[in-house]
Amino acid sequence: MTEISDWIYRISRYRLLGSRCVKCGEVTYPPRLKCFKCGSEMIDYQLPRRGKIIHYTSVKNLPERYNRFGAYYIAIIELDDGTRIFGLLTDIEKPEVGIRVEACLRKLYTYGEEGKIIYGLKFRPVID
Ligand SMILES: [Zn+2]
Repeated sequence: MTEISDWIYRISRYRLLGSRCVKCGEVTYPPRLKCFKCGSEMIDYQLPRRGKIIHYTSVKNLPERYNRFGAYYIAIIELDDGTRIFGLLTDIEKPEVGIRVEACLRKLYTYGEEGKIIYGLKFRPVID
Protein backbone atom coordinates (compact mmCIF):
# COMPACT_ATOMS: atom_id res chain seq x y z
CA MET A 1 0.00 0.00 0.00
CA THR A 2 1.40 3.44 -0.92
CA GLU A 3 1.66 6.24 1.64
CA ILE A 4 -1.30 8.10 0.04
CA SER A 5 -3.62 5.10 -0.31
CA ASP A 6 -2.63 4.07 3.21
CA TRP A 7 -3.60 7.54 4.46
CA ILE A 8 -6.96 7.55 2.61
CA TYR A 9 -7.69 4.09 3.99
CA ARG A 10 -6.92 5.26 7.52
CA ILE A 11 -9.09 8.37 7.18
CA SER A 12 -12.12 6.25 6.24
CA ARG A 13 -11.32 3.96 9.15
CA TYR A 14 -10.98 6.82 11.65
CA ARG A 15 -14.25 8.42 10.52
CA LEU A 16 -16.23 5.16 10.18
CA LEU A 17 -16.82 6.17 6.58
CA GLY A 18 -18.35 3.39 4.51
CA SER A 19 -20.11 3.28 1.16
CA ARG A 20 -23.67 2.64 0.02
CA CYS A 21 -24.79 1.25 -3.33
CA VAL A 22 -26.81 3.75 -5.40
CA LYS A 23 -28.92 0.90 -6.84
CA CYS A 24 -29.52 -1.78 -4.20
CA GLY A 25 -28.58 0.12 -1.02
CA GLU A 26 -25.94 -2.38 0.16
CA VAL A 27 -23.63 -0.82 2.77
CA THR A 28 -19.94 -1.76 3.03
CA TYR A 29 -17.19 -0.89 5.45
CA PRO A 30 -14.46 -0.16 4.54
CA PRO A 31 -15.82 1.65 1.47
CA ARG A 32 -15.76 0.12 -2.02
CA LEU A 33 -15.94 1.66 -5.50
CA LYS A 34 -18.34 -0.99 -6.88
CA CYS A 35 -21.10 -2.93 -5.14
CA PHE A 36 -20.15 -6.56 -4.56
CA LYS A 37 -23.81 -7.60 -4.94
CA CYS A 38 -24.91 -5.80 -8.12
CA GLY A 39 -21.76 -4.07 -9.48
CA SER A 40 -23.25 -0.55 -9.32
CA GLU A 41 -21.51 2.63 -8.16
CA MET A 42 -21.02 3.18 -4.45
CA ILE A 43 -21.27 6.58 -2.72
CA ASP A 44 -19.84 7.71 0.64
CA TYR A 45 -21.94 6.69 3.58
CA GLN A 46 -21.34 7.86 7.15
CA LEU A 47 -21.88 4.99 9.54
CA PRO A 48 -23.28 5.75 13.00
CA ARG A 49 -20.65 5.66 15.76
CA ARG A 50 -22.83 3.78 18.22
CA GLY A 51 -24.31 0.31 18.28
CA LYS A 52 -24.47 -2.86 20.34
CA ILE A 53 -22.43 -6.05 20.72
CA ILE A 54 -23.90 -8.98 18.79
CA HIS A 55 -21.10 -11.54 19.28
CA TYR A 56 -17.68 -11.36 20.91
CA THR A 57 -14.67 -13.52 21.72
CA SER A 58 -11.33 -13.08 23.46
CA VAL A 59 -8.11 -13.26 21.46
CA LYS A 60 -4.95 -14.70 22.97
CA ASN A 61 -1.55 -15.75 21.57
CA LEU A 62 -1.24 -12.45 19.77
CA PRO A 63 1.39 -11.40 17.23
CA GLU A 64 4.42 -9.79 18.88
CA ARG A 65 3.39 -6.19 18.18
CA TYR A 66 0.06 -6.65 20.02
CA ASN A 67 1.50 -8.56 22.96
CA ARG A 68 1.77 -5.59 25.31
CA PHE A 69 -2.03 -5.41 25.44
CA GLY A 70 -2.36 -8.98 26.68
CA ALA A 71 -5.57 -10.74 25.64
CA TYR A 72 -8.28 -8.54 24.17
CA TYR A 73 -11.81 -8.84 22.84
CA ILE A 74 -13.06 -8.64 19.30
CA ALA A 75 -16.74 -8.29 18.48
CA ILE A 76 -19.38 -8.11 15.81
CA ILE A 77 -21.13 -4.80 16.44
CA GLU A 78 -24.53 -3.89 15.03
CA LEU A 79 -24.48 -0.14 14.48
CA ASP A 80 -27.61 1.93 15.04
CA ASP A 81 -28.51 1.77 11.32
CA GLY A 82 -28.36 -2.07 11.33
CA THR A 83 -24.93 -2.38 9.65
CA ARG A 84 -22.77 -5.05 11.24
CA ILE A 85 -19.01 -4.54 11.46
CA PHE A 86 -16.04 -6.19 13.13
CA GLY A 87 -14.26 -4.23 15.86
CA LEU A 88 -11.89 -4.36 18.81
CA LEU A 89 -13.33 -3.68 22.26
CA THR A 90 -11.61 -1.46 24.83
CA ASP A 91 -12.27 -0.17 28.35
CA ILE A 92 -14.37 -3.24 29.10
CA GLU A 93 -13.57 -6.05 31.52
CA LYS A 94 -16.42 -8.44 30.77
CA PRO A 95 -18.33 -7.93 27.49
CA GLU A 96 -21.92 -9.07 27.14
CA VAL A 97 -24.19 -9.41 24.15
CA GLY A 98 -26.42 -6.35 23.88
CA ILE A 99 -24.11 -3.85 25.61
CA ARG A 100 -24.18 -0.42 23.92
CA VAL A 101 -20.78 0.65 22.54
CA GLU A 102 -19.36 3.64 20.67
CA ALA A 103 -16.34 4.11 18.41
CA CYS A 104 -13.27 5.86 19.83
CA LEU A 105 -9.79 6.48 18.41
CA ARG A 106 -7.09 4.51 20.19
CA LYS A 107 -3.52 3.37 19.71
CA LEU A 108 -3.40 -0.07 18.09
CA TYR A 109 0.32 -0.81 18.07
CA THR A 110 3.80 0.54 17.31
CA TYR A 111 6.24 -0.86 14.80
CA GLY A 112 9.63 -0.25 13.27
CA GLU A 113 12.84 0.94 14.88
CA GLU A 114 11.48 4.49 15.19
CA GLY A 115 8.36 3.20 16.99
CA LYS A 116 5.79 4.40 14.45
CA ILE A 117 2.40 4.56 16.19
CA ILE A 118 -0.64 3.13 14.43
CA TYR A 119 -4.04 4.37 15.57
CA GLY A 120 -7.43 2.92 14.81
CA LEU A 121 -10.98 2.69 16.05
CA LYS A 122 -12.00 0.55 18.97
CA PHE A 123 -15.38 0.33 20.67
CA ARG A 124 -15.96 1.20 24.32
CA PRO A 125 -19.12 0.94 26.42
CA VAL A 126 -21.49 3.92 26.11
CA ILE A 127 -21.79 5.82 29.36
CA ASP A 128 -24.90 8.01 29.31
ZN1 LIG B 1 -25.70 -2.90 -5.23
